[in-house]
Amino acid sequence: MIVAVASGKGGTGKTTVAASLAWVWDRPVAAVDLDVEEPNLHLFLKPDITGRETAFMEVPVADESKCTYCRACADLCQFKAISVLGSVLLTFAEMCHGCGGCLAVCPEKALSPGSRELGDVSWGTAGGRIGFFMGRLRVGEAMSPPLMRAVVAKLNQTPHAAAGDVIIDAPPGTSCPAINAVLPSDLILLVTEPTPFGFHDFRLAHAAFAPLGKPMAAVINRAGLGDRSVQDFCLSRQLPILAEIPFDRSLAEAYSKGRVVAEALPNMRKVFVELMTALRGLAETPPQRKAAAHA
Ligand code: SF4
Ligand code: SF4
Repeated sequence: MIVAVASGKGGTGKTTVAASLAWVWDRPVAAVDLDVEEPNLHLFLKPDITGRETAFMEVPVADESKCTYCRACADLCQFKAISVLGSVLLTFAEMCHGCGGCLAVCPEKALSPGSRELGDVSWGTAGGRIGFFMGRLRVGEAMSPPLMRAVVAKLNQTPHAAAGDVIIDAPPGTSCPAINAVLPSDLILLVTEPTPFGFHDFRLAHAAFAPLGKPMAAVINRAGLGDRSVQDFCLSRQLPILAEIPFDRSLAEAYSKGRVVAEALPNMRKVFVELMTALRGLAETPPQRKAAAHA
């Protein structure tokens, strides 16, 4: 089972939930931080990092001596990452999405594969039993999805990790990186807080992820704040609320020390064990009932 822990808004407690879920998970599990622009799952899980490698993306390199300025590459590229101005060929590696199309269409073989550094992928083990994988985007790099795919590829190349369950800490928001992070999942767990800001972004996240057709559920963090808008919305969309985490000083103190709350607080361990059980129940729900949950 692959669970993506996501949120429409940053700061709702998504990483807190992902870390605690991984901590209480009673089957082989890998925790995967795909929030590659601002990874911080490692701050909670404190993994022993055993490997690290730089990830690259393929970009075209031009040999202008072979170029006939036919424009086939420029006409194909939807991202304006390669241009022909008269008898000048220009490539913009930072704008390239690495599709390889220009290399394929060049009749003169004037383009060859080069590379652009995306960032690094690292892996290890947390708590002696939790597989851990993360990506960290290079400062100045604009595209996170290729690095996220490199992290998932590393997970899949690690047989003992790929064989178990996976908990993904997805980036917040509803744009391309967030969608990309939840795509490999079997189930999306949306973390929100019952404030006007949390509710607003929660609805956006639900609208963004619902078309993917995956089972979804919610966790309400800082329960007790605000009003019941989130609960009413979940009820109206048949979106199960699998856990409510109270707005409590002891949680804030554990969080401020970088501790996994399910480890630091026995009452929170119980909450997350119940959440784990509920997620498994949802994953095993027959398809027609899952479909009803998205009606
Ligand atoms: S690889 Fe794709 S995105 Fe990059 S320059 Fe070529 S056509 Fe454009
Ligand atoms: S397709 Fe090849 S030959 Fe044509 S403009 Fe591009 S690099 Fe030059």
